[in-house]
Amino acid sequence: MITLKSRFLRIDFLISNSLKTYKAIPFLYLCPMAQKEDNLKDIISHAKEYGFVFPSSEIYDGLSATYDYGQLGSELKNNIKSYWWKSMVQMHDNIVGIDSAIFMHPTTWKASGHVDAFNDPLIDNKDSKKRYRADVLLEDHIEKIRQKINKEVAKGLKRFGDNFNEEEFLKTNPNVLRNQTKIDDIENRMRETLGNNDLEGVYDLIVDLAIACPISGSKNWTEVRQFNLMFSTELGSVAGDAAKIYLRPETAQGIFVNYLNVQKTGRMKIPFGIAQIGKAFRNEIVARQFIFRMREFEQMEMQFFVRPGEEMKWYEYWKEQRINWHNKLGLGQENYRFHDHIKLAHYANAASDIEFNFPMGFKELEGIHSRTDFDLKQHEEHSGKKLQYFDPELNKNYVPFVVETSIGLDRMFLAVLSTSFKNEKLEDGSERSVLSLPPALAPYKVAVMPLTRKDGLPEKAKEVLDTLKFDHNCQYDEKDSPGKRYRRQDAIGTPYCVMIDHQTLEDNTVTIRDRDTMLQDRVAISDLEGIIRKKVSMTTLLK
Ligand code: ATP
Repeated sequence: MITLKSRFLRIDFLISNSLKTYKAIPFLYLCPMAQKEDNLKDIISHAKEYGFVFPSSEIYDGLSATYDYGQLGSELKNNIKSYWWKSMVQMHDNIVGIDSAIFMHPTTWKASGHVDAFNDPLIDNKDSKKRYRADVLLEDHIEKIRQKINKEVAKGLKRFGDNFNEEEFLKTNPNVLRNQTKIDDIENRMRETLGNNDLEGVYDLIVDLAIACPISGSKNWTEVRQFNLMFSTELGSVAGDAAKIYLRPETAQGIFVNYLNVQKTGRMKIPFGIAQIGKAFRNEIVARQFIFRMREFEQMEMQFFVRPGEEMKWYEYWKEQRINWHNKLGLGQENYRFHDHIKLAHYANAASDIEFNFPMGFKELEGIHSRTDFDLKQHEEHSGKKLQYFDPELNKNYVPFVVETSIGLDRMFLAVLSTSFKNEKLEDGSERSVLSLPPALAPYKVAVMPLTRKDGLPEKAKEVLDTLKFDHNCQYDEKDSPGKRYRRQDAIGTPYCVMIDHQTLEDNTVTIRDRDTMLQDRVAISDLEGIIRKKVSMTTLLK
């Protein structure tokens, strides 16, 4: 859920960055950026090579910041959705799910604040004709200064070894202090100008810092303008403003406008939640970093309606619930951190992001926001309809307060994919690419293979496959040597490979190979399903 606040969030991000100690995130600061970018490139090409993610309309050279999920990507994505939906809807008897339309009455977006304030400040370079987000240009400039501090830290570490006191160094080294002051000054000016919508001030800051266009190298900038991020189109055959409608920039408003429908027809009692998974569209100015920032993406959002005054309790509750959901996947607790917002939008009384250590560093993956009664009240005002709840215990009507959890499905996909992707050197000197995906999320749970393509082994393998395919997504693979087939399954993250060999024909046993340990066991065919279920079942994650 974003409305006005999202662009404020970026300012908050800056504030918190300046307060961070470098020690807290050593990987991000000490790891060379080039290596991380290479890592992202490897992930992108692996995703394409194995049918996870393709550039959209690739035969026409693609369309910027839009991607298609391939045969394996859509399976992985569906499994992430299912894990979220089950955990939020199925496991909570006071949360229900909906699927609202992408097109909504245009007044929705007036009420939510998106028409007037869902903007990014943009600036063009007159020589390269490239368009940038002004705040991103400034953030990149700050990042360069931060790199200088990192270099000083690395030098200090090299010089003093184990005796190096980083905290003390950061507080006393003159070069570090000078650069930190520069960063603080820029961030203060950004807060002032961006926070007050002072676009001339933002322009002046870019000029004062002598920021050059990364493409042309020139400082020949246009003025800074606001750019609304909503895509619009026209309804029916009538042209003009009267028929202008928008592609929704978030799924949350579909929940707010249906609040009363769901509450009444579902006889929901406060506290209760409404969840939804669906597409959202934002005309991002700088859309890069693969599926991290796209123009068409998917959100998984839940709005939790509570009694006014109880929202902070529920805000803390959902922060804990959501981080537990992430941690159960086993991507590594060290890869997550909370970033509590210091500066809040006027209608929020608490907000926090769950940030993830993506290949580009720690960035927002999910937002948890206590949004007061802002949205429902706005919709009451603009629609003229009462959106209230009669609380039998208090014997009074009120507009509920809302705590929301909002996660980008594509960002979650990237978090899972990037953490699972490994190039491993094996003991025998060979190498393998493996996706150590959480088994419950893997596209295929098991690959069934005949050792050879003769002696009735393929027929037996298909028999085994037929017993497993009702419960698990399975793949049949008979081409190439067993070693090659194992590597292929490792590369797409299949937790188990089952090999049918000549012994199978004699005693109905097979070998089952574990993706992570690469160890093989001989087991009875009758035990196979149970063994596989134990490892890949989502139930273990949900408990
Ligand atoms: P950012 O600051 O990165 O632009 P935001 O604060 O605008 O994100 P929200 O409006 O809070 O994001 O949206 C909720 C979630 O939707 C985000 O945490 C993120 O996971 C996802 N999301 C937002 N914009 C995009 C995008 N352009 N591409 C992919 N996912 C997105």
